[in-house]
Amino acid sequence: MSEGYKEYRDKVLNFIEEHENWRSHTINLIASENITSPSVTRAVASGFMHKYAEGWPKARYYQGCRYIDEVELIGVDLFCRLFKSDFADLRPISGTNANQAVFFGLAQPGDHIISLHTSHGGHISHAGFGSAGMRGLNVHTWPFDNEEFNIDVDKAERLIREVEPRLVVFGGSLYPFPHPVKELAPVAREVGAHVMYDAAHVLGLIAGGQFQDPLREGAEIITSSTHKTFPGPQGGLILYKNLGEDTAKLQWAIFPGVLSNHHLHHMAGKVVTAAEMLEYGQKYATQVVKNAKALAEAMAEEGFKVIGEDKGYTESHQVIVDVSDLHEGAGGWAAPLLEEAGIILNKNLLPWDPLEKVEKPSGLRIGVQEMTRVGMMENDMKEIAHFIKRVLIDREEPIKVKKDVYYFRQGFQKVYYSFDYGLPLGE
Ligand SMILES: *Cc1c(COP(=O)(O)O)cnc(C)c1O
Repeated sequence: MSEGYKEYRDKVLNFIEEHENWRSHTINLIASENITSPSVTRAVASGFMHKYAEGWPKARYYQGCRYIDEVELIGVDLFCRLFKSDFADLRPISGTNANQAVFFGLAQPGDHIISLHTSHGGHISHAGFGSAGMRGLNVHTWPFDNEEFNIDVDKAERLIREVEPRLVVFGGSLYPFPHPVKELAPVAREVGAHVMYDAAHVLGLIAGGQFQDPLREGAEIITSSTHKTFPGPQGGLILYKNLGEDTAKLQWAIFPGVLSNHHLHHMAGKVVTAAEMLEYGQKYATQVVKNAKALAEAMAEEGFKVIGEDKGYTESHQVIVDVSDLHEGAGGWAAPLLEEAGIILNKNLLPWDPLEKVEKPSGLRIGVQEMTRVGMMENDMKEIAHFIKRVLIDREEPIKVKKDVYYFRQGFQKVYYSFDYGLPLGE
């Protein structure tokens, strides 16, 4: 009899279980992650996952979609309500996929766009070496003010008038402060550009009304991931105003342009998450921003150099710390050491870092949204800051800190701001 391959099945399921046990007892501060509620998890682990439904609800290229259609129609309605947008398209399967759809639908090879440089916090999909460049777009980058940690408005206005882009892109992966959409969108519209806001990182904060509101500030299109501060499953999304004759171009670019079937189980998960955010989003987002400010202040008190001191450190879920004077390996030293202590976060280039420092960048990028979701409040942020200090400043053995992290995290095992568990104590 053959040995069979069951052991591989067992190994995979085992690794998943190990992962879940481990990560449920670590402090996850990765700024682009979150955790789904049991209801959303159920929607994803469902019979929707192995089905096809190309096209629009009630106008599919596949049979067998009657229930899938109902879910997607609820979803379009909830997302339009949540973000006060004219249209919502839940089909993009990731944030990058949503960006590709805009680059294909609203721009042609040879067109100019302006987006944030990756060194300044821009996403790879906006870059010349990423999706935008591969679409054949000429990518210009926003002038950046290191002091303000933001786009330089005056220089940006000049650049828009000089380049006359087809598309301008706001949003990024590293930004503690809102982008100057209100100031620059009218200038972009004047030269005939479409204004897009990539909300991948801050969608959950926008849903809760606690960050800038791009569609009210002049953006016409929001692209996004659905799994960062918006606590849904991995996925993408496009929200947009009526774009006139370009509306159809964008829709055609999504399907059949950059995808055929969308991921129906992820779509269902996004819809349940939208309901959670309509119900609890305001409280959730408020607590996320409070926690980010509390963590930043506590880190500063513990002796860390936190970016943005003169502006209250942060207005988003992110806290950015410069660890370059703690060790010559900087972020490349700090992040793996913290993982040994059960604290998971990423190293990050800071705007003034030379690109060759990509392995040893000055910064750490911290996000508090997942730990907020499991019920942590401002006082818990002080504990976290102290754990980090014990590892990086006191140079305590990570394994010792890990034990304390484990017991601390043991107390946060439910996913709040959800229909499953409601609000955490203290809300
Ligand atoms: C994370 C991110 C994306 C896309 O991420 P996916 O992994 O493709 O969902 C797009 N834009 C920005 C600004 C991001 O931070």
